[in-house]
Amino acid sequence: MPATVYDVKTNRMVNPIGVDSKKPAFSWKIKSNKNGLVQKSYAITVKDENGSEVWNSGEVLSDVSLNIRYEGKALKPSARYAWDLLLTLSDGTKARYEGATFETGLLSASPLSDAKWIGSSTNTDSQKPVAFRKVFSVKKAKLVKAKLYSTALGNYENFMNGERVGLKDKNGDVYYQELKPGFTEANKKIFYNSYDITDYLRNGQNVISAIVTNGWWSGRAGKYGKENAYKAKVVLFYNDGSKEVIATGLDWKCSCDIAYRFADIFDGETYDARISDKWKYIGFNDSKWDKVKKNTEFTGKLESWIGSYITAQKDAELSVEEAWIYDGVTDASEEAFGKINVVEDNLKGNFTLLPGQKAVVDFGNNHSGREQICVSGKKGTVITIEHGETLNDCNGLKSRGNDGPERSIYNLNYRSAKATTNYILSGSECECCSPTFTFYGYRYLEISVSAPVEFKDIKGIVISSVEEIIGKMTTSNEKLNKLLSNIKWGQYSNYLSIPTDCPQRDERQGWTADTQVFAEAGCYIGNSETFLHKFSIDLAETQNEEGAYSGTAPRGEYDGAGWGCTGWADAGIIVPYYLYTMYGDKEIIEKNWDSMEKYVVGFLGKLGKRGPVNRWGDWLAYESNDAEIQDILAVAYYAWDALLMKIMAAAIGKNDRIDLYQNIYDTEKQYFIEKYVDEKGKVKRGEQSICLYALYLDLLPDEKSVKAVIKQLTSNIARNGNRLQTGFLGTKIILNTLTKIGRNDLAYSILLQEANPSWLYSVNQGATTIWERWNSYTLDKGFGDVGMNSFNHYAYGAVAAWMFRVMAGINVDVDVPAFKHSIIAPYPDERIKKVDASYESAYGKIEVSSTFRGGKWTYKVKIPANTSAIVILPLDAFELVSVNKKESKKVKMDTDCTEMVYRDRKCVKFAVSAASAEFVLNKK
Ligand code: BGC
Repeated sequence: MPATVYDVKTNRMVNPIGVDSKKPAFSWKIKSNKNGLVQKSYAITVKDENGSEVWNSGEVLSDVSLNIRYEGKALKPSARYAWDLLLTLSDGTKARYEGATFETGLLSASPLSDAKWIGSSTNTDSQKPVAFRKVFSVKKAKLVKAKLYSTALGNYENFMNGERVGLKDKNGDVYYQELKPGFTEANKKIFYNSYDITDYLRNGQNVISAIVTNGWWSGRAGKYGKENAYKAKVVLFYNDGSKEVIATGLDWKCSCDIAYRFADIFDGETYDARISDKWKYIGFNDSKWDKVKKNTEFTGKLESWIGSYITAQKDAELSVEEAWIYDGVTDASEEAFGKINVVEDNLKGNFTLLPGQKAVVDFGNNHSGREQICVSGKKGTVITIEHGETLNDCNGLKSRGNDGPERSIYNLNYRSAKATTNYILSGSECECCSPTFTFYGYRYLEISVSAPVEFKDIKGIVISSVEEIIGKMTTSNEKLNKLLSNIKWGQYSNYLSIPTDCPQRDERQGWTADTQVFAEAGCYIGNSETFLHKFSIDLAETQNEEGAYSGTAPRGEYDGAGWGCTGWADAGIIVPYYLYTMYGDKEIIEKNWDSMEKYVVGFLGKLGKRGPVNRWGDWLAYESNDAEIQDILAVAYYAWDALLMKIMAAAIGKNDRIDLYQNIYDTEKQYFIEKYVDEKGKVKRGEQSICLYALYLDLLPDEKSVKAVIKQLTSNIARNGNRLQTGFLGTKIILNTLTKIGRNDLAYSILLQEANPSWLYSVNQGATTIWERWNSYTLDKGFGDVGMNSFNHYAYGAVAAWMFRVMAGINVDVDVPAFKHSIIAPYPDERIKKVDASYESAYGKIEVSSTFRGGKWTYKVKIPANTSAIVILPLDAFELVSVNKKESKKVKMDTDCTEMVYRDRKCVKFAVSAASAEFVLNKK
């Protein structure tokens, strides 16, 4: 099989539209079954719409296939470019890829300045969706191409002649970006979207329309502005070289008299299907519609979108696992809400519901999205759908925190978010609906009706910014598989335009510690490249004058809660670091460099050792998280930031900054030792998180001290019955640190722990996502503190990074990032007999499996073309039997593309060059 080229991307995206960089970056991967295959050279040619060459890189001798910058003629706006790739490979063969495309956006410093922001002249209630429309005419025979550029203050949708405007994926299928233009620091920047609308247009009259809702601009989740507005232009390109622009202006019409009656991200959506959508089409008389007015609220900049859009995840669509209908309650008392009186049970998505009854629908998995229902009923019937992540239990006992009778939905933890869909029937034979301008974090629906309704079908539409699941792992332990699934669903649910803390309650903000804690795991599971790149810019745009990053980015509803807090603000350094190491993204380091220096040198430097900043420390830990603990963590994070800055400075050639960051680290370490380590070398505070950071970041004076702190840590864990006691910050590094100190055995004991607090405790309680608290729900006490209790908070899912790094053994080599060279170091445990993992890295798919059978460990490794790896296998309890079914000494680079390079009593190391290899080890 000849080598093939795949995952061909421009600016990290497949065939993107709206590229506004002067020098887009090209990337690709190579797939081959041939061992040892390396890219020797590449040649890129880029052609414009007329087929004229605008860049020919010539043959470049290089094995790099990531982010190669365009260096051709100046790109023109609104133009599609096609690029071809020709690779020469080490075996003398060639590999080609033809017809990758990218389309430029407006390439303007002030895009859309010829279009006005228009809002309703009569309606100032931002919770009322507003529609805009404009008729224009097209000479189709002369039309070469047509583009639409649009954006909104609020969330919006475009329609062309009634049809929702979408984009095409790599297979040519249409998809839609949900909740456009996404969540950004909207007083500073809003994205605009670009579309090719040539196929949407017809000869003669056409109508463009849009609906705008409050979204993250003026709704409860955003609070940047007061009124909603729309800004767009259609550009028609004719074959005589002429251009026609139809831009938003005072000649457009608007109305709130549309089916969408109400929308808010927290509170839900009301849709009255009795109101026709004829206004989206030609022929509608809009003379009664309102005039628009100019909106002047926005003073930031407009930029073309750079990826990370929310889409409906077709592969993850959920059907009804079980549904039941109840009317009324039994066994209620002062102390208890009682039980629901079930009238029909074991239903699926089709049933008839009567007024006075309620249907509870279980999709089997907690997720972010919206339900889709297909129903029939009388015109004007109101269907009300509430959402919940879990059910009330134990006869609805109030002391357990229940908010209703057993088996009804529990959603007190949504706090003030109403999260309700109201749908008013048109009365047609079968009508389907799904909200558009909101989303819910839910597993269950609770439905009631004002008149009988026949439900024909119900679905859970999952929405997410996760583009692709790239990290997959299954083990012989079903509970760990469930944990991995829960983590993946946590990422699906919380990577929604921005990385949110949770998707259900009146929050859903870009809490920065949650993000940094989970980021590495996120980079392993779902492709987070464009998503975290965009978010890193959000971080920089949210930074304050003093250089502090915010508790939430964008500032959103909290207007910058908690500036410069330990572990939160440090996301500004940690997230770009992961983008660089995991995906090779140097661009973000370059873009954010000044901002990052302003934080570490400016803000932290000025505070020195961190002063009393508003902070949360090891948030939600079971152990003490007092002011001193938080001070210590502040020093540790400052030291950590400096280490990461040192690596990033080297990555972008800022060699003059390397010493500066080394000095900051050294100074902080010294300070840590002087202030927090006693004369015996122990840390003065023995909480797990303190021991962990001291060890993880090498903050201790000498070996003796390291030993002493290891003892402190392991005795603490033992004292707590082999359980972690850590919160957000400690949990991120606990297993990594245990690996570092050679205690993988203990790391596995904590991972496999089932008593609270532990990851598997929630799995045993039927969790389908990761909980905010270790005790969000306990068997003995019921629901956790309702003031703040989410069942879909991904932070503790950070453990997946360790599972990929140690259990599966797939590690990035920080010195050769993006898995161009990887470190494969599986360290499985006999308690888990099999681990199969694959990771579609920036340079191709890495596969590692470990199987324990008959006293032997067999490791199978596959390193993709054009990359190499060092495979490190533990020998402490094992001896090497064979490599590729041969004696290990006989395995050579020439024949196997694999060769032993190091061996001592503890481990053996093999260099592997783009090859598959199998290693068998016997128990000693
Ligand atoms: C969020 C957290 C966040 C925290 C800050 C909470 O309300 O849900 O995840 O990091 O506030 O302490």
